[in-house]
Amino acid sequence: LVRLRARLARSQNALGRGLLSLLSRDNLDEDTWEEIEDLLITSDIGVAPTQELVERLRERVRVLGTRTPEELRGLLREELLTLIGPELDRTVNTAGGITEQGEERPSVILVVGVNGTGKTTTTGKLARVLVADGNAVVLGAADTFRAAAADQLETWGKRVGARTVRGPEGGDPASVAFDAVKEGITEAADVVLVDTAGRLHTKASLMDELGKVKRVVEKHGPVSEVLLVLDATTGQNGLVQARVFAEVVDVTGIALTKLDGTAKGGIVIAVQRELGVPVKLVGLGEGADDLAPFEPEAFVDALLE
Ligand code: GDP
Repeated sequence: LVRLRARLARSQNALGRGLLSLLSRDNLDEDTWEEIEDLLITSDIGVAPTQELVERLRERVRVLGTRTPEELRGLLREELLTLIGPELDRTVNTAGGITEQGEERPSVILVVGVNGTGKTTTTGKLARVLVADGNAVVLGAADTFRAAAADQLETWGKRVGARTVRGPEGGDPASVAFDAVKEGITEAADVVLVDTAGRLHTKASLMDELGKVKRVVEKHGPVSEVLLVLDATTGQNGLVQARVFAEVVDVTGIALTKLDGTAKGGIVIAVQRELGVPVKLVGLGEGADDLAPFEPEAFVDALLE
């Protein structure tokens, strides 16, 4: 975790350093506040949250009267945390249930998102974390459109000790997802992770595909979690994609990938606000260990390091 924090801090450095240097100016005049606003906006926080933050910060600075850079840093830290929502429940739901036939049913987690965002990788990394925590995991390779996605997932499965259920290439994703959950029930697994296809031609086709996967899987019982994988480097584009997915399925959590590759960590705030669901996981690299639970305090500290 220390290593992950260090990596996050490195990528976010520019923002933190910029903010702190502005706040340590002798005179916090109108221009300086504008520069602070600009900096926050370029970090992808979004215009409205930035304005809220700066307004609150200015008001607090005004009330406080004198202030040291340390005090200002403290205030900024608090305001950023408030925007991120330290109170939100960010646990990935691994609670299963009971089938209509009275059998124990594993937790079913659908992993959704546009191709290339890191869906399969995140599914593999999450499987690794869950297996390390003592869960028996089954993987469903329901991304039957991207050639190699099922192979990629199966490789992860072998690596972490999880069985992979797959179908023919180009086959019906919903049927693979259904079979994976069935396998999970038969094997008395704790968690079934379903990697879905993310072809975003039109909302209608996505709805057809993803909506069907969810409906079919739900024949076994409710889905515990729909994790939307979002690439942090895609900025506003990513937000548009996120909105489309959220209209098609009830997203319950966000996995924000490639945070190691951007200084635009503000996207955490923007996407939570856009979808009204918490960021639960962050991807900080391509390696097997580079998935971490999202911790608001550690995140803000890395931002302001
Ligand atoms: P999918 O099409 O959404 O399933 O995407 P993949 O899982 O195949 O990932 C696409 C690329 O992004 C691969 O090269 C991954 O190694 C890379 N990737 C995934 N997550 C991260 C991350 O958190 N950081 C970095 N730097 N690369 C990542």
